[in-house]
Amino acid sequence: MSSKLRAFLAGLLALPLAAAAQGKGKTEITWYGHAAFTVKTPKGTVLLIDPWLSNPKAPAQGLADSLEKVDYILVSHGHFDHVGETVAIGKRTGAKLITNFELAKALVDAGYPKDNAGFDTVGNVGGQVKAGDATVIMVTAVHSSGFGDESGTKVGGNPMGFVVKVEGGPEIYHTGDTDVTQDMRLIPERYGPVDVMLACIGGHFTMDPKGAALAASFVRAKVVVPMHFGTFPVLAGTPEELIRALKGKAKVLVLTPGRATSF
Ligand SMILES: [Zn+2]
Repeated sequence: MSSKLRAFLAGLLALPLAAAAQGKGKTEITWYGHAAFTVKTPKGTVLLIDPWLSNPKAPAQGLADSLEKVDYILVSHGHFDHVGETVAIGKRTGAKLITNFELAKALVDAGYPKDNAGFDTVGNVGGQVKAGDATVIMVTAVHSSGFGDESGTKVGGNPMGFVVKVEGGPEIYHTGDTDVTQDMRLIPERYGPVDVMLACIGGHFTMDPKGAALAASFVRAKVVVPMHFGTFPVLAGTPEELIRALKGKAKVLVLTPGRATSF
């Protein structure tokens, strides 16, 4: 092989790798520990999910003050480990709030800008919200949703999970906190098979790895990203147990907090 041809072939191979590394035309998912993720779409829309960015596994301190661009904040339910720094980030970035009706009201009472928590993005289970070049579908989760602040615990509506359908990109399912449910079978039936499932696996407050493996089969997930494990000692489920329980039926991808992965 001539050196010119070799260089040409090497260039061909390098191109898609470079594009993937830079996330060009791709959807980037970044885990920030616990249940916190950002999804950055090919057109640059940034969706921040369950932003407890001060969690013990967070990749850096002060992330709530430093995330540059956030267009939408999705909050699955009212517990502190999911609401996290929602109010502060909402105030600083002007992000619109996607959550259920009661929790949106509680967050506005706690200081979230009211104009960014209107009916264009606040809904409830079964609803769909347009979010730039993505659509967010609010789906069932079996859990609880009280929202606590200095004044006590307030009604936080029903807990939910999110299906995020990215235009020209993957279908992502963030389970929120939940057990495995028969309702999960409806997700691929209604919205198509899930490309990337962000699945709670810790047990105790949610499903464990065996439950998550069953849930992955219900939603026909291609890739499962484990979350909501190891933050506290009681969240004892591990990715290794998930891999064993899946028996090769879906790929498990353990993300490194703070590092973007392209899909
Ligand atoms: Zn939780």
